[in-house]
Amino acid sequence: MRDSISESSRRATVVGAGIAGLTMALCLARDGWFVEILERSAILGEAGAGLQLSPNALRVLSGLGLLDRLRMVGVSARSVTLRSGRTGRRLATVPVSSADGTPYLSLLRTDLQTVLLEAVMAESRISLRLDQGLIGLEGRSGGGFDLAFADAAGRRTSVFAPAPVIAADGVHSAVAAALGLPASKPSGLVAWRMMLDEPLETPGIEAWLGRDLHAVAYPVDAGRRTNLVAIAPQTAGSQAEAEREPAQAFDRRFAGWNTALLQRIQRAGSPGRWPLLDADRMGERLPSGLFLIGDSAHAMLPFAAQGAAMAIEDAAVLAHGLRETHTFEEADRQFQMERAPRLKRVRKRVDFHRFVYHLAPPLSWGRNAALAARSPASLQRDLAWLYDWAPPTA
Ligand SMILES: Cc1cc2nc3c(=O)[nH]c(=O)nc-3n(C[C@H](O)[C@H](O)[C@H](O)COP(=O)(O)OP(=O)(O)OC[C@H]3O[C@@H](n4cnc5c(N)ncnc54)[C@H](O)[C@@H]3O)c2cc1C
Repeated sequence: MRDSISESSRRATVVGAGIAGLTMALCLARDGWFVEILERSAILGEAGAGLQLSPNALRVLSGLGLLDRLRMVGVSARSVTLRSGRTGRRLATVPVSSADGTPYLSLLRTDLQTVLLEAVMAESRISLRLDQGLIGLEGRSGGGFDLAFADAAGRRTSVFAPAPVIAADGVHSAVAAALGLPASKPSGLVAWRMMLDEPLETPGIEAWLGRDLHAVAYPVDAGRRTNLVAIAPQTAGSQAEAEREPAQAFDRRFAGWNTALLQRIQRAGSPGRWPLLDADRMGERLPSGLFLIGDSAHAMLPFAAQGAAMAIEDAAVLAHGLRETHTFEEADRQFQMERAPRLKRVRKRVDFHRFVYHLAPPLSWGRNAALAARSPASLQRDLAWLYDWAPPTA
């Protein structure tokens, strides 16, 4: 009965304490599991960057009792405004608020991490060990896994972990590497991230579209600051050369763009550069009792602001599967059945945004005309399947 969930020790191991790993641990602990999280970093938190969290993700966090805390640090958006990068003219307004009142929040990534971490620390069933970078994983024939870790000083340890082991170790997943799964792929795009120490004058999320380039701005830090992200093709040359691209080259990409946006970019100072990767390991054959969630399973480009949201959804769906099924194989089948079609549809939307956001004239004129002909309500209906999703209930 090694694969029977009810006969298991009700101990789960989560590798990685990012958004996926922390949410997973909370979902499992609420179902009575004892969870150990093993995280490579000695300190948690990625300073500076922001995140949009749509209602589909926030329904999961609301179920964990975290929504009030998130509302305090985030800013609720009613719509995304699409603008011409060149003129700043409004092209369309896409409402993002939902009928059940679940908000669409923009917030600092560290604020989300802090809210999740506080909940993890308050949960007696969860233990978190930092400075534990997974370097090896091997399945045992009788069930469970031998895991090998190294800390920052290079000291190695190994532990036996009964199933389930849940990999939430991001796009460069060491668990995926240990299993020989495909590596992440460079997308040829780079994100430039900036933080402005000033509020955004307009409410909601603003996006400027241009040839081979778009920029998004949204309020974070309870509205005190503004996160600005621009996404563009990586310049020719090697990855190392692209990473040395000087700030002036970044400014040149925006030549001819509207002055209000350019002034913001200049006030924000030097941007942080972030080459964008893609990974799709959904559907790969995994040993029984091992699961991949979040970016370790399906890192996607941020054109629909859904990577973290999908990680959060994964956690709720997998916890539900482990509750409702009898074996780890069954839980895996259920997870794949529920997640694969949805992730495929989200990826299609990402590809669509990638195509239309970066169009050059004259195709961009056609896009602008098509957007002008759509009412906000009809644009909202296009995304109802995405934002109206709710986690499975018992
Ligand atoms: C520019 C940009 C903008 C984005 N904007 C949005 C947005 O607005 N909305 C949205 O929903 N998504 C957005 N995303 C996507 C989102 O950031 C990711 O999908 C999300 O962070 C994935 O969470 P994760 O927990 O799976 O992985 P990660 O956040 O990468 O966490 C992985 C964790 O595992 C740890 N780890 C790694 N290796 C090991 C190891 N060997 N052993 C132990 N621990 C390990 C890491 O230290 C980390 O703590 C954006 C992404 C980018 C690049």
